[in-house]
Amino acid sequence: MPEGDSLRRAARKLQVLVGERLAVETPHPRAAASRVAERLDGRKLVGVEAVGKNLLLSFEGGLVLRSHLRMTGRWQVVPTGTRRVGSPWLVLRGGGHEAVLWNGPVLELSARRALRLGPDILADPPDLDRMVARLRGEHPSRELGDALLDQRLVAGIGNVWKAESLWHAQLSPWRRLGDVTDEELRSVLGEAARLMRASLEQWSDGRAVYRRVGRPCPRCATPIRSRGQGDDNRTAYWCPGCQRGEERPGA
Ligand SMILES: [Zn+2]
Repeated sequence: MPEGDSLRRAARKLQVLVGERLAVETPHPRAAASRVAERLDGRKLVGVEAVGKNLLLSFEGGLVLRSHLRMTGRWQVVPTGTRRVGSPWLVLRGGGHEAVLWNGPVLELSARRALRLGPDILADPPDLDRMVARLRGEHPSRELGDALLDQRLVAGIGNVWKAESLWHAQLSPWRRLGDVTDEELRSVLGEAARLMRASLEQWSDGRAVYRRVGRPCPRCATPIRSRGQGDDNRTAYWCPGCQRGEERPGA
């Protein structure tokens, strides 16, 4: 699943088109229904940024195209006129390069202010105070691991970095927000920002818990566990030895 860091890489690739007036096409029939091409064709691209799990392309006139890649979407930047097979969702063609979006299920054009996302975990520096304030606005019984994936509270943390940042901060995903101190929240958010920044810059010290069920915790050797969490039942991974805290009844 594309997470904040892979979107950052896509945003970097797309920078080559910023400042250009673009020819815009939506070859895929389902994308054509969005009428994005008619509204954007011939406009100048003024900025591309990854915000949370969204890639936001800003065009002159205050229009923002939001692309959410879900499981399958992929951006490619190639020299203009490169031959291709199949129908991409979107083609943004500049003088020297074109950006091609394949399988991008969410493509939405809106005014910038309509996007309700939390502070970006990959901002430099990340605004931890605002993130903590947003988390504090949630019900105290909400599980920490579930809240970290809520893009309205903090934008950009996906399932991998949720698991890894909680492990680094030695916090259980099952702790309730009401039982976690501000210092602990800052710690896990800081770890998420650090790990995701490292991934963006293409170095990594490997994964401690994500998809490592049954293998020994690198810190205390207790076998890693997993279990679905939250309304979307996303799999949480944690070490019950060194990430102590409340678990759901029956866990
Ligand atoms: Zn452990």
